[in-house]
Amino acid sequence: TQMNIAIDGPAGAGKSTVAKLLAEKLEFVYIDTGAMYRALTWKAIKENVDVNDEKVLHQLLKECDIALVNESGHSLVKLNGQDVTEEIRNASVTNNVSYVAKHPLIRKEMVSKQQLLAANGGTVMDGRDIGTAVLPEANVKIFLTASVEERAKRRHEENISKGMSSDLVKLKEDIAKRDQIDSERDVAPLKQAEDAIVLDSTSMSIEEVVENIYGVIVE
Ligand code: C5P
Repeated sequence: TQMNIAIDGPAGAGKSTVAKLLAEKLEFVYIDTGAMYRALTWKAIKENVDVNDEKVLHQLLKECDIALVNESGHSLVKLNGQDVTEEIRNASVTNNVSYVAKHPLIRKEMVSKQQLLAANGGTVMDGRDIGTAVLPEANVKIFLTASVEERAKRRHEENISKGMSSDLVKLKEDIAKRDQIDSERDVAPLKQAEDAIVLDSTSMSIEEVVENIYGVIVE
């Protein structure tokens, strides 16, 4: 079997960009576990389900087929066949997803799905608990971080480049809040695995981060 690579870290550290590029370079499959929690959150908001109601959310999840698919080079997120790739990035999903992800029953289902996806190896998986809970046997574990100022600034610049309105102060608050909820939850909180390599990308380019991780993998 091929290797699995785990990339964890706080919100906006560049995990998904790095994981995607790394997967391309290695010809591995990229698995965005955050997108799975986001898809359920999107559905909950749509169905007016309270994000604090674990039982109802768990029932809702059973009715959701969440798929990460690759269509002609684009990674898409589908929920019961519907393309929700764009919608799951909106502010309302972003600011509610950590409440959905706190629930043990939800995490249990998501972790099983993720473990199945990685069962044959050949994946680069990003999230918060990959090295600690989903793939404790991952061949390489990276904890990718950056200062909260830098993370907010990058997101701000990304929004502006897309022609979206953006509030840097608000972005920083939202990122810090999400990190706090993710770090303080009872089940598999955001934290680095003991055997993870910590990379602080505050003053590194995407390319440098990718090269750095690639170097660790092929060494
Ligand atoms: O990675 P992304 O920012 O899209 O993740 C959205 C949210 O999903 C995180 O803030 C966290 O609450 C949750 N998440 C998680 N475990 C993962 C991936 C994401 O709890 N493995």
